[in-house]
Amino acid sequence: MRVNAYAAPAAGRPLAPTTIERRDVGPDDVLIEITHAGICHSDIHTVNGDWGPQPFPVVPGHEIVGTVAEVGDEVTTHRVGDRVGVGCMVNSCGRCANCRNGDEQYCLNGMVGTYAATDRDGTTTQGGYSTHVVVDAGFVLRVPDGIDSAAAAPLLCAGITTYSPLRHWGAGPGTKVAVVGLGGLGHMGVKLAHAMGAEVTVLSQSLKKQEDGLRLGADSYFATSDPDTFTELAGRFDLVVNTVSAPIDVDAYLSLLAVGGALVNVGAPAEPLSLNVFSLIGGRRSYAGSMIGGIAETQEMLDFCAEHGIGAEVEVIAADAVNEAYERVLASDVRYRFVIETATLR
Ligand code: NAP
Ligand code: ZN
Repeated sequence: MRVNAYAAPAAGRPLAPTTIERRDVGPDDVLIEITHAGICHSDIHTVNGDWGPQPFPVVPGHEIVGTVAEVGDEVTTHRVGDRVGVGCMVNSCGRCANCRNGDEQYCLNGMVGTYAATDRDGTTTQGGYSTHVVVDAGFVLRVPDGIDSAAAAPLLCAGITTYSPLRHWGAGPGTKVAVVGLGGLGHMGVKLAHAMGAEVTVLSQSLKKQEDGLRLGADSYFATSDPDTFTELAGRFDLVVNTVSAPIDVDAYLSLLAVGGALVNVGAPAEPLSLNVFSLIGGRRSYAGSMIGGIAETQEMLDFCAEHGIGAEVEVIAADAVNEAYERVLASDVRYRFVIETATLR
């Protein structure tokens, strides 16, 4: 079927309306009528060419919520009319050790990204800035009742990308967690770490968003532009989750870790980052990375959010406002996720 979409025609060029082809619904597929698509900074990195050449035109969008419109003959997990979500991946081999372990995002044969990736049938995937998508049922999540669809969409990337490392590195009662950068990922990190029972600190460039940060669940808030912050907080945290989309001074953030603490990078700037190994060995510290989360863990995160009344703070926009929204994300002027109402594409 031919559907309306918004696509970047080439690297760094504004997105514009277009139409794209969606495959026929196969026996294991689900056809979703999309209602909402979040704007992730990864969409911007991709279409701006920060991460290398892309198969343009690219329809971004990997924070998708919608309603099931049709299911294939073999699908038992989703029914027509269900509210569902799709995140950053739409396929993986399903057989390798990582897939079998529930870590499909680290598929040894390469997971298939929701857009700008080559699917197993050889076609190029196109993302959620469109009216419909066809996805293998194994990569379709249930959106629990009680989370508004617009507020649920960002959970599919920003939510799971912060939930997974918080769980993996044991955020909870008695732990001190810092979140660097209060944007789309960062504000979810604050809400989730708070709900898990950790003591949460926001490290933002300035104090402009302090009131919001405390309302979202942070216990304290510091400006990284103030050098005293790094003196005052030295050796304090068990876990620092860095969500910044630009390079950071890794050594400065490692110095904030207690003995045995971990600095986990989820931010994915184009530029390589470097560090002084003495920042690690001087405190048995770790520097790690983490990419989204597996499918079962994503469902667990959605259920956790429903249980704790958590959704993203969103600004819902029409599709023709997407280029302006990109500018505002790049200027750190997002409170705290733009979500496209895809009905505006029809
Ligand atoms: P975002 O909404 O733009 O948030 C990033 C925040 O970083 C900004 O709000 C800002 O927070 C801070 N920041 C931006 N530029 C900065 C600079 N030059 N110096 C210091 N701080 C700066 O972006 P996002 O959607 O949350 O994504 C963040 C990063 O995570 C991106 O690189 C994205 O590609 C990556 N990502 C990774 C994964 C994964 O699986 N690992 C998944 C999704 C996204 P303050 O204003 O509070 O300082
Ligand atoms: Zn994303």
